[in-house]
Amino acid sequence: MLTTNPFDDDKLREECGIFGVYGIESAAALVALGLHALQHRGQEAAGITSWDGRLFHTHRAMGHVAGNFDRDEVIRALPGPVACGHVRYSTTGETALANVQPLFAELVSGGFAVAHNGNISNAMKLKRELIRRGSIFQSTSDTETIIHLVATSSYRTVIDRFIDALRRLEGAYSLICMTPEGMIACRDPLGIRPLVMGKLGEATIFASETVALDVVGAEFVREIEAGELVTVSDSGIRSIRPFAPVRPRPCVFEQVYFSRPDSVVDGSSVYSVRKAIGAELARENGVDADYVIPVPDSGVPAAIGYAQESGIPFELGIIRSHYIGRTFIQPADNIRHLGVKLKHNANRALLKGKRIVLIDDSIVRGTTSVKIVQMLRDAGATEVHMRIASPPTRHSCFYGVDTPERAKLLAARMTVDEMAAFINADSLAFVSVDGLYRALGENGRDPARPTHCDACFTGDYPTPLTDHDDLAEPDQFALLDERILA
Ligand code: SF4
Repeated sequence: MLTTNPFDDDKLREECGIFGVYGIESAAALVALGLHALQHRGQEAAGITSWDGRLFHTHRAMGHVAGNFDRDEVIRALPGPVACGHVRYSTTGETALANVQPLFAELVSGGFAVAHNGNISNAMKLKRELIRRGSIFQSTSDTETIIHLVATSSYRTVIDRFIDALRRLEGAYSLICMTPEGMIACRDPLGIRPLVMGKLGEATIFASETVALDVVGAEFVREIEAGELVTVSDSGIRSIRPFAPVRPRPCVFEQVYFSRPDSVVDGSSVYSVRKAIGAELARENGVDADYVIPVPDSGVPAAIGYAQESGIPFELGIIRSHYIGRTFIQPADNIRHLGVKLKHNANRALLKGKRIVLIDDSIVRGTTSVKIVQMLRDAGATEVHMRIASPPTRHSCFYGVDTPERAKLLAARMTVDEMAAFINADSLAFVSVDGLYRALGENGRDPARPTHCDACFTGDYPTPLTDHDDLAEPDQFALLDERILA
């Protein structure tokens, strides 16, 4: 069985990346490049939909962007000056081709394509209502709910129908939509998932992260603001604010792990924030040691920050193979425990007889931490002190991030001391929630007015969790026969 990188199973996984282009010939080719830069946000499937001024065209497939969009004939089959695309993990909805985005439907107003990053936390409730009223769902994706809400709205124009649909949604959504009239980009009222706008000549670009603008040579214009809806058409760019303003709560985990370090999120360089988290860790949880060693690659910026703050030398004590690839044949159980060594190997010559501060971005199930600590001990490290550049992950995410159920989160089951014993570290410490906020340039977390969603650390969810709180068994709303297990 093929799987996405099995050694990243012990991370929270961002579920989607989206990218849209309005106003340049062969827009789909640019979308393919943009999606490639967002590949870290989803590696199970990719899709692009284009509009040639008369017809919509689409190509969606399981697998990576490079494998799906590296052939001329695929790009040539996506003509036109407007296109949007999507990379995904499955969070809501099975890993089936029917769920691969952009989703598309013919509405009374014409074609409507949507690419969604996030998760609608009342999608099941809305689906039940829609099905009772006659809607027929083709996928199990929460995103299809948006299409049916637009289709059944009683408003006349497509933009009014769309706004009417958005007002029914709870949860997290950054959306790029295409209609015959143009492109619509929007963020939910709290701005939980990111979305930025850029410019390339006369073309307007939307992307989950600034790195995708950089890669296609576009200039960053600004973030789409929380609760903002931006339309682009031949008559220009228009900003609409259909919701009553609320304090934004963007996902703090974008800063910790999801976004690429060369992106700028909420106005901050992700790389700089991660270094600052490492410095906070050193101030809060210093320890005597010979070297600071990151778990590559995600622990590197925080380890640099820790080393600079503590004065302990930064060294590469774990070397990551760059050739394992992002997909890998799942090893049989009896050899799976060798897995970490396929991705990471200890630098024995450096580690022998040394006391190590080991830095990682997070602990989810703890399985990878156990293997990495043991690997350092086997290589001769005399002490391993693990330091984590995020607070303990104690709660599941319902906003489009693939988290294990709560019972499987190590920090939900154990105290920090118990976790240290479990991973066999000499000591274990996490940056505090206040330390995380200080790294973001604040004085700490203001519990009355938190500036980010930090629910996986604090349990303070910024929206209702309607489906989660509804104990009814989930219904099957679509056949899953076309599930693709390849
Ligand atoms: S629960 Fe955690 S991962 Fe999910 S949106 Fe909030 S901060 Fe991000």
